[in-house]
Amino acid sequence: MKCHDCGAKLQKMVTDLPFKKGAGSIIILKKLPVFQCENCSQYLIEDATMERVDELLNGADESAELEIRSYTSSSDYSAAI
Ligand SMILES: [Zn+2]
Repeated sequence: MKCHDCGAKLQKMVTDLPFKKGAGSIIILKKLPVFQCENCSQYLIEDATMERVDELLNGADESAELEIRSYTSSSDYSAAI
């Protein structure tokens, strides 16, 4: 897989990323598997991973301004990665 921006190789890695939910909520997902570009700051999230992210965001408390969740807390982690 290659970077859309610069064409460099994408490296599979695990990182923490913030996601916005609703008007004022931010959910930080920890240990999220992504593909990070070796050359620039671009990253790509696989469809299967994104589906799991959506599930986690849907289950998050919208009244909380900031919530931190672990992506790896799910039992299907090995299937998603
Ligand atoms: Zn790049």
